[in-house]
Amino acid sequence: MAGRIPHTFIDELMTRVDIVEVIDSRVPLKKAGREYTACCPFHNEKTPSFTVSPNKQFYHCFGCGEHGTAVGFLMEYEHLSFPEAVEELARQVGLEVPYEGPTHTEPQQRQRNDNLYDLLAQSDRYYRRQLRQHPQGSRAVDYLKQRGLSGEIAAEFGLGFAPPGWDNLQRELGSTAERQEQLITTGMLIRKDDGKSYDRFRDRIMFPIRDRRGRTIAFGGRILPDSQESGAKEPAKYLNSPETPLFHKGQELYGLYETRQALRDIPRLLVVEGYMDVVALAQFDIRYAVATLGTATTQEHLNRLFRVTPEVVFCFDGDRAGRDAAWRALNNALPIMREGRQIRFMFLPEGDDPDTRVRAVEKAGFEADIETALNFSDFFFQHLGKLADTSSIDGRAQLVEQARPLLKLLPPGVFRHMMTEQLARLARLETAELESLLARADQSVAVGKTNQGHTAQHQGRKPLSPVRMALLRLLYRPELAQLAGAPQRFTDLDIPGVNLLVEVLEILQENPKLNSSALLERWRGTENGSHLEKLASWEPEVTTNESLEQEFSGALAQLDQQRLQHRCDFLLARSNQGELTPEEKRELQELFATLNRDKRQNAVKNRE
Ligand SMILES: [Zn+2]
Repeated sequence: MAGRIPHTFIDELMTRVDIVEVIDSRVPLKKAGREYTACCPFHNEKTPSFTVSPNKQFYHCFGCGEHGTAVGFLMEYEHLSFPEAVEELARQVGLEVPYEGPTHTEPQQRQRNDNLYDLLAQSDRYYRRQLRQHPQGSRAVDYLKQRGLSGEIAAEFGLGFAPPGWDNLQRELGSTAERQEQLITTGMLIRKDDGKSYDRFRDRIMFPIRDRRGRTIAFGGRILPDSQESGAKEPAKYLNSPETPLFHKGQELYGLYETRQALRDIPRLLVVEGYMDVVALAQFDIRYAVATLGTATTQEHLNRLFRVTPEVVFCFDGDRAGRDAAWRALNNALPIMREGRQIRFMFLPEGDDPDTRVRAVEKAGFEADIETALNFSDFFFQHLGKLADTSSIDGRAQLVEQARPLLKLLPPGVFRHMMTEQLARLARLETAELESLLARADQSVAVGKTNQGHTAQHQGRKPLSPVRMALLRLLYRPELAQLAGAPQRFTDLDIPGVNLLVEVLEILQENPKLNSSALLERWRGTENGSHLEKLASWEPEVTTNESLEQEFSGALAQLDQQRLQHRCDFLLARSNQGELTPEEKRELQELFATLNRDKRQNAVKNRE
């Protein structure tokens, strides 16, 4: 995808765009030394660990490890695709994105998506109109009234009506073969084996599913109780759009857009099962309910939720199936749990769902229910405690065994530590045992932290390899590449990362004005790219230009020495076999001299 926008354009864009401005207009930044900081928009925190480096044109959060360029920030923060993020930045600095290649795939793709959004907006309007105007629409209205929904709430959530019949929407919107094709792509029509198509949603209350910008990207439909709609089999009570280019179930949450419209601050979000629950709760002024769309809650869902609130409460039925679903939700949540994020589990009385419950006890009663929700650790240990009898030694050992792999899934940090302590208490471990357990936990904490690539962790450890050091300094100051001489000379060195270093040096020497973010964009989505990003998120220990230069040159000198040594070893091996030409003999002597001189110089340097 990225290949369709020429590199040269990205290069230019990245030099014109200032990441500080881009982020500051969305997340207000404060200056702190050479960098800028804010409370991280990607995880919930009270003290800022999100930093933006104007030098590197790079952001990094020491709390959650998120990092990237201005393009990456927009992709993450505004949920844009790569071309969309590039378009947005280009618009801000007044550039037009050129698309490469004779096929113009990108604009076509975008045009196509625009058409799809447009068709869904038209479908949306059509269904709403049918709710008011269709002769059968009153059945839907009666149903909604009987469920206690007001006209205001129905309008706010954009509820509509898909009339009975196989081709209402098709006749309304599918005027051309192309539009029919697009309606199939958006999931509104279903194609039969004989090539003909029919309406997916028939005789249903329609719930538009909106993305974070409020665009309709899919629909949910609830069958009317007295539906005459006959198919080969019993129609499903709830029906959702399938996965489409615009709709990814694992990411979208019904009601999140509406919540954000209704509330400025969102102290908590309630995750319920269906869209009817969301709307019913909104009717009782509980404006913070969302629903997944026919899937279990994914980590992507949770990350999206925690971007807007510190607390997520799962609401489940009180029966066995509800408990099982809650345990699955807890398991899915383990890798994204950390301090500052709260997850709780609420169980309704058996036989109730949020819709029936809120109508029975109203807002105050329902919110009192929420207060009784179990917190993460209580539900965790309660569930495991049910599986193991903690009054016996065997049972406690079993508890530890069952808990340990799950605790390992938690990201390192205070929360994991507290969970581990709680486990030790419950397992009634002796001090020695407790300590060894905690030590093991701490060990994995240390490993986890180095993965974030924080400078503090690599300080005092073995020194950086010259390749890494050179790359690190180049990311801080790309102009250093001009001091490097011919990069190709390093290609014979058989050390990890050297090819990447050569490539980086070549690109920078050819494009002396390139900045770090443009450089990083060249490797977007590749393994080398994530390697470079990791390096970019390290803080430099030195920040004066002089020491940057010294360290860079020092690293290259080390590589040169390795290279000469390498050549020297090669020639020596040949010489042992008596195969050296006179030229090679001279070269070997010179190499000896150079290497010895370098070694003496290094020895002097080290004494200083
Ligand atoms: Zn963060």
